[in-house]
Amino acid sequence: TLSDRLTGVFDRLRGRGALNEQDVREAMREVRVALLEADVALPVARDFIAAVTEKAVGQNVLRSVTPGQQVVKIVNDELVAMLGGEGAAPLNLDVRPPAVIMMVGLQGSGKTTTTAKLGKLIKEKHGKKALMASLDVNRPAAQEQLAVLGEQVSVATLPIVQGQQPVDIARRALESAKLQAVDVLLLDTAGRLHVDEALMAEMKAVAAVATPAEVLLVVDSLTGQDAVNVAQSFSDEVPLTGVVLTRMDGDARGGAALSMRAVTGKPIKFAGTGEKLDAIEAFSPDRVAGRILGMGDVVSLVEKAAESIKEEEAEALAKRMMAGKFDMNDLRTQLRQMQNMGGLGMLAGMLPGMKKAKQAMAQSGMDDKVLVHMDAIIGSMTPKERARPELMNAKRKKRVAAGSGTEVQDVNKLLKMHQEMGRAMKQIRKMGGLKGLGQLFA
Ligand code: GDP
Ligand code: MG
Repeated sequence: TLSDRLTGVFDRLRGRGALNEQDVREAMREVRVALLEADVALPVARDFIAAVTEKAVGQNVLRSVTPGQQVVKIVNDELVAMLGGEGAAPLNLDVRPPAVIMMVGLQGSGKTTTTAKLGKLIKEKHGKKALMASLDVNRPAAQEQLAVLGEQVSVATLPIVQGQQPVDIARRALESAKLQAVDVLLLDTAGRLHVDEALMAEMKAVAAVATPAEVLLVVDSLTGQDAVNVAQSFSDEVPLTGVVLTRMDGDARGGAALSMRAVTGKPIKFAGTGEKLDAIEAFSPDRVAGRILGMGDVVSLVEKAAESIKEEEAEALAKRMMAGKFDMNDLRTQLRQMQNMGGLGMLAGMLPGMKKAKQAMAQSGMDDKVLVHMDAIIGSMTPKERARPELMNAKRKKRVAAGSGTEVQDVNKLLKMHQEMGRAMKQIRKMGGLKGLGQLFA
């Protein structure tokens, strides 16, 4: 698995400290293999790796986990985020009824099956009245197939009229839905073996008539590298609102999910998990991320380690601050902590001074990237300068700015922030030590 491989990569790394660029790059070669094995499309894998590399370089390795494990966690978090974060995206049915759901995709991707699955779900879980109509006039018996499935799930289907074109069937379905006070109308469309112009024209025409609340692209998760092209073509022509990945019960490692998401920018709403008509689930980004990387408990292990380390470091840092020993090395530790904790947006305010630092940063219009810059600035200071920042004169500032690829004013800002934090610490001491912390930073 990937975590084994990464542990191998990092075996020679005994020391602690930040992940350096060389190590991360080596690890990313393994990640790349894992992504391609999971059938993530090549350009998507490339972009993903670039994003993760940027995040990983410079991160501190937590005690009690290996660098390899730490990288797996970083990769996993980024995967989950790209796959849509924690929550599943719900169906948008909040329109004037009938809410139309249009299913599009290649032939055999699972459109008809998914239509019936969703019909059942909408009726049973949402408690809404559904009607299903097949617009597939190409494949013999396609409309009958939906009628049979409709009977199995006890959801009404539009009566079949031979010789009608898809757009006419869509119109008839809409009228019928209105007459019968249907809440949700599901339109199952035709597919082709490959994307072609006639198919796209048909999809567009149907969408124009039906004004769907949802246009769901149905994709076989075994599609692999070709998934990108399919998604791109559909997404160029019809206004997709989401994706359904079918056959997630099979051997697929789920790489298509990442490709779909990257290309369409739309949420993956459901996963088909079998041929049975109740085999559909809300899409779960973290489960699929785990599947793509093929890793075990690494993520939760690192999370636990991060928890305990945060507390330990916070205490140690607080002690140093109280003793008036807060130098640039400590500030760096704190900045890295902020990055590890997901940047400014997620600051828990558990470290002394964090809240104030965050406010100061927000006021000067700084964002998460600034943390990286600050880290670089401190990195360009000599050990002596870090221990005694008051040594920083104009000449030294200029050197450090050049060395870190920043401006002198950035160096000044950082020094000022350090000063302010020191001042805050003195105040705390006056207020009676750690007990005062709560008051100052609450
Ligand atoms: P369509 O051409 O896009 O309408 O595809 P169909 O709905 O007719 O599905 C084609 C085949 O895929 C059928 O045999 C389905 O039973 C099967 N199928 C659809 N979804 C899934 C799924 O999530 N898992 C599995 N194992 N089979 C599925
Ligand atoms: Mg079909």
